[in-house]
Amino acid sequence: MSNGFSGDYEEEAHWTNKANCKDRGHLMFPKRHKDITYISEARRICRQCEVRAECLQYALSFPAADMHGIWAGLTPRQLAKEQKARGVTPSKPTIAEFMADMLRYYKDKPEPKSKTNIEKIIDDDRKELN
Ligand code: SF4
Repeated sequence: MSNGFSGDYEEEAHWTNKANCKDRGHLMFPKRHKDITYISEARRICRQCEVRAECLQYALSFPAADMHGIWAGLTPRQLAKEQKARGVTPSKPTIAEFMADMLRYYKDKPEPKSKTNIEKIIDDDRKELN
């Protein structure tokens, strides 16, 4: 699965098009906090996925603590163990680092004439943080 934020989107789009969870993303994530009832069905979907290896490589590039749902048949805790076993250091920023970068970017950026919706949301978030 892709979050669409990576610079390798073209390559990712290639394998995600073959993802067995494509258009079934709602089955790969918990419905509520601490919900575990979705896991066995999500794992079944992953077992039948032809791009599981690519998905695992992609998932391992993210900080496991920020992961959510099932990726390549693994829970976030299992992804963390896999990263440790492989000696993998996630290449993607944490959500906190990503948000901090975005806030710095918008703080330093001159005010545009008209703001996009995401800029308005970020402005509102910044006001709440100050
Ligand atoms: S391995 Fe699982 S999570 Fe990854 S793309 Fe395939 S079905 Fe989706």
